[in-house]
This record gives sequence, structure tokens and C-alpha cells, in this order.
Amino acid sequence: MSATGLSAFSLEGRKALVTGGNRGLGFAFTEALASCGAAVAFAGRDATANESAVRRLAASGIEAYAITADLTRDDDVDRTVDEAARTLGGLDIVVNNAGVCFHNPSWDAPDEEWQQVFDLNVRAVWKVSLAAGRHMRDTGGGAIVNIGSISGLIVNRPQMQAPYNASKAAVHQLTKSLAAEWAPHNIRVNAVAPGYVKTEMAPVDRPEFQRMWIEDTPQQRYATPDEIAPSVVFLCSPAASFITGTILVIDGGYTVF
Ligand code: NDP
Repeated sequence: MSATGLSAFSLEGRKALVTGGNRGLGFAFTEALASCGAAVAFAGRDATANESAVRRLAASGIEAYAITADLTRDDDVDRTVDEAARTLGGLDIVVNNAGVCFHNPSWDAPDEEWQQVFDLNVRAVWKVSLAAGRHMRDTGGGAIVNIGSISGLIVNRPQMQAPYNASKAAVHQLTKSLAAEWAPHNIRVNAVAPGYVKTEMAPVDRPEFQRMWIEDTPQQRYATPDEIAPSVVFLCSPAASFITGTILVIDGGYTVF
């Protein structure tokens, strides 16, 4: 029998991997998935930050497993997916969250920045999805949620960030492409596209961004990571069983104009 009501949102018995889970949005996703019943592993490069995140989660009664890895490295991708599946006893949820952004007029953007943005925001999403997707394909299915952005839909102002915007458009289209291809394997692939969220990546409090980031948002404010996390839980849960290939925009109305 299929789940109904609140139980449709439960992740009891699920095993999840979150990339970039030691701070910001990824930390909130780890916390939310675990609090809805999933066993969760997260990955990040900084071992000290990973340990600190495990401690902060433990303080609120959440057990999470940290994997120190740089997901722009193929061997780290394979090790991370293997370790998550082995430690958790399976893997049926992946949240591709790790990402990087640089503000720069295109004329001034060094090649190195383009490379870093595409290696992490696009290629790592592809490689982690493939490694985890193979596992899901062979074990009955799963759900992947990619963290896209309003930057994949509009051009942000006043800061210029062309490589990042292009990378997030690629994430959205990769989401749809894998959703179509992997639906027969019972793997759902969706994305969320957040607007401005207060994290280390987005300096939402800086006065120079008030006019175009905050005042141009119909809700006239930025979000906190815990406001994005429930949508990720939803897309991973049985409540979203007929949703695949969607880009769920969570932006306080920013993209309506
Ligand atoms: P943060 O910079 O706060 O966090 C990024 C996380 O990714 C950290 O945990 C970091 O840990 C990890 N990470 C960075 N590089 C790598 C790597 N090579 N391998 C593994 N992990 C890595 O960013 P946010 O929380 O703001 O962003 C999370 C996602 O949400 C990104 O994809 C971003 O593009 C997207 N987003 C953010 C918005 C915002 O307003 N904040 C809006 C829309 C989308 P470590 O340094 O230890 O590796």
C-alpha cells in the first residue's frame, strides 16, 4: 500500500549521501534528511569542518557519517559513493549540493575559475550521479536531488558570474536528461533552484546587494538554509513518487519579474 498523509514524507529506512554537507545548505539538508528518518553520510574536503559538523549534528541528536573527499577528483567520487553505501548499508538518496561561485566580470574571470566552477558544479554532479545511479539501478532505484539555482534561469545582478550561471543551467538540463533516461530504473532525478540563501557563498547582508538581491525579491528578504531543506526532503520522499525531471524554484518570488 502506498504511504498517505504525513507518512508519505517519511524517509525511514532510506540511506542518503549529501555532497558538501559540512556547512550552509548541505548541512541543513543532512539535518533534515536525518530528522525525517534517513541514515545520512555527507562529504566535504575539510576534515576539521566535517568533524565539527558531525559534532554539531550530534548535539541535536542526529548521527551522521562524514567522508573527507574532493569531489572534483574521480577517485574520491568512487570512494565516497562506495564508502557511503558500505557504511549506511545501501544508498537510495543522493543530494548533489557541493558547489562554488565567483563574482567577476567575464573579461576578468581567469580560466582557473571557469574550470573550478565546471569541475565541481557540473562534472562532479555527473560523476557522483553516475556512481550512485549505477548502485541504485542495481538495487531497485532511488532519488537524486541536484542543487541548481535561480542563476540557471535568470542573470543575477549587480554582480556578474557568467561561469556559475552557465553551470547551473547545465545542472538543470542534466537533471532533466538523467530523469528521462533513468526513469525505467526507478530512479527519480529532480533539482531545486534556490534564490538568495544566507550561507558563506552568498553575502546576503552586504549593503551593495540589498537593492537587487533583497528589494527585487517579492518577499523582500533572503532565505535561511532550513527553508530550502524541506523541499529536498519532499523530493526524496514517497510523497514525490510521480515527480521526476522537475526544477523546483524556491526563491521568495524572485523569478516572477
Ligand atoms: P557553501 O560555500 O556555504 O558550502 C559549500 C559546501 O560544498 C561546503 O560544505 C564545502 O565543504 C563543499 N565543497 C566545496 N568544494 C567541494 C569539493 N571540491 N568537494 C567536496 N565538497 C566541496 O555553499 P552554499 O551552502 O551556499 O551552497 C550549496 C549549494 O547551493 C551550491 O551548489 C550552490 O551553488 C547552491 N546555491 C546556493 C545559493 C545561496 O544563495 N547560498 C542559491 C542557489 C544555489 P569543503 O570546503 O570542506 O569542501
